[in-house]
Amino acid sequence: MGARELAELILERQPCVALTGAGVSTESGIPDFRSPTGIWARFDPLEYGSIEAFRADPRKVWSFYKPRVAMLAEAEPNQAHLTLAELEQLGVLEAVVTQNIDLLHERAGSREVVEVHGSIRSSTCPGCGERVALADVLELLREADAPACPDCGEILKPDVVFFGELLPPSAIDRAFELARRARLLLVVGSALEVHPVAGLPLETIAAGGDLAIVNRGPTALNDRAALRIDGSAGEVLAGVAEALRGEQPQQPEHAR
Ligand code: NAD
Repeated sequence: MGARELAELILERQPCVALTGAGVSTESGIPDFRSPTGIWARFDPLEYGSIEAFRADPRKVWSFYKPRVAMLAEAEPNQAHLTLAELEQLGVLEAVVTQNIDLLHERAGSREVVEVHGSIRSSTCPGCGERVALADVLELLREADAPACPDCGEILKPDVVFFGELLPPSAIDRAFELARRARLLLVVGSALEVHPVAGLPLETIAAGGDLAIVNRGPTALNDRAALRIDGSAGEVLAGVAEALRGEQPQQPEHAR
């Protein structure tokens, strides 16, 4: 199975919704979590990525986040992000649901982006609730190892979902609604191991839709996929866009 088959499936099964994970951003130089070279091979998630850890010692958690936020803010969208934005423009992709916090879908030009794990767009003060934009957080980090609230001095928390925190209800509700409506859920670069997001493909399948997976290596739902391509997200999606450019997209079912 290759990019052309995936392009055909996308045209046939409208509406199509993408679900992306860390693997969509590795070609932008951002490591994923679970690969042998991923972040959690070097950092214990409970020590640096949980809300308990943040509450106990926010400065220690920022020693992990400071270089990470700087790196994410400098990364550029890659071919996979750009292609998903192009598919939306072509009228064959309804939305991108992403587990990523890096803002790269938005920066690539995708307009319907549902960020189920939050993002680095802002940080919030746990003390007084002040919200501080990324540019200001980066400015604060020039002077300090952890950003202090400009109003009350408490250490800011990035608006990303830490282990042990609930997902933003409006985003996860919207993601489930999109998954149920999708006749094709296209997973790109996710091992589908983090819940509740990993349940989205099952929601699509239960509602009569299909699952397509573009991922390097196995995922938890390989045996449920109608089509699976083990390869680079950027290369595979570039092939899909090339195949689609010449085709006339069908009118999406929901627009009829
Ligand atoms: P994961 O790390 O569990 O899995 C990523 C998958 O992508 C792996 O199976 C890997 O083999 C595959 N992959 C890596 N590079 C690829 C490529 N170029 N092409 C195709 N596949 C590739 O990631 P996940 O399932 O998204 O899960 C985890 C959590 O990690 C999420 O909560 C997410 O917020 C967080 N995360 C986000 C970022 C980011 O914002 N860029 C980076 C790392 C982790």
